Amino acid sequence: MSTILDGNAVRDQIKNECRPRVEAMVSRFDRPPGLAVVLVGDNSASQVYVRNKTKTAGELGIYNETITPPASISTDDLLGIINELNSRQEIDGILVQLPLPKHIDAQKILLAVSPAKDVDGFHPYNAGLLATGREGLKPCTPAGIVELLKRNHIQIAGRNAVVVGRSDIVGKPMAFLLLREDATVTICHSRTKDLPAVCREADILVAAIGRTGMITADYIKPGAVVVDVGMNTVTDRKQAEDLFDATRLAAFEKKGSLLTGDVNPKDMARLASAYTPVPGGVGPLTIAMLMRNTIDAAERRCS
Ligand code: NDP
Repeated sequence: MSTILDGNAVRDQIKNECRPRVEAMVSRFDRPPGLAVVLVGDNSASQVYVRNKTKTAGELGIYNETITPPASISTDDLLGIINELNSRQEIDGILVQLPLPKHIDAQKILLAVSPAKDVDGFHPYNAGLLATGREGLKPCTPAGIVELLKRNHIQIAGRNAVVVGRSDIVGKPMAFLLLREDATVTICHSRTKDLPAVCREADILVAAIGRTGMITADYIKPGAVVVDVGMNTVTDRKQAEDLFDATRLAAFEKKGSLLTGDVNPKDMARLASAYTPVPGGVGPLTIAMLMRNTIDAAERRCS
């Protein structure tokens, strides 16, 4: 019987830990932590993500504001907005919702965010702190995964961890965070030779690929801990039959689509000793960790 690693439960724990810290900041400094979200254009998926972030901030008493420049804004004008947010005392965290419109130089924008306010942990300064084992703001999704593993008493030290995916947002920081926890870490990507064999060496397997159900039984060592970061939408019935049990297949029939990860859920449930479901595993943690990063940034700035 495998353990389901419940991201909603850990999200609630993290949020509950945030509340007294917000209150303490208000009573000590007469202001709550502040988060500014920059949402360029009218991408509907981004609008939903931003709404969820600001709603959670509001629930926790974190001051928040959303700046919504039009999609036509130039890189220079957007830099002006970031610079103004950098200089505002009551703003502790700045989040630039990605993706940005193609004509904007996203690297230039992310580089302009003050590292002290970089609550996404994407700035090279914070990436460098993480890579050299120093304290800094850490990317929310991989930091949330470490919380999930630790709070479920999953041993990390000394175990073989394989991370599939090497993005700056998930794969690389995940690998560095597991290394910090003393795992022996392998990073895989699209050019890795015999990926199933490498993955079968994993005591802890993290899939951050963006390919529906790519990790099948062939990749999973029986008894491994499997973390599925992928968030993909299945619309094809044949693929749904391959992936889902009867209950989820019924939900698929009703909705015409269903959210799923990078790991085949049936194989994962059968072989893993513990695993994160999609939805309800990694997903809920990202926003909770963003709130924690905002409070961390605020406390550091006030101390
Ligand atoms: P990216 O597209 O930036 O990176 C994907 C990585 O997967 C790349 O390193 C790529 O390798 C690797 N890859 C692609 N195809 C293969 C393959 N066939 N074999 C081996 N490796 C492969 O994605 P992200 O890291 O941003 O996101 C990954 C997934 O996680 C997505 O589904 C995304 O939606 C999800 N996600 C979920 C979050 C959450 O809160 N739950 C938050 C962020 C992301 P290469 O570098 O060689 O191209």
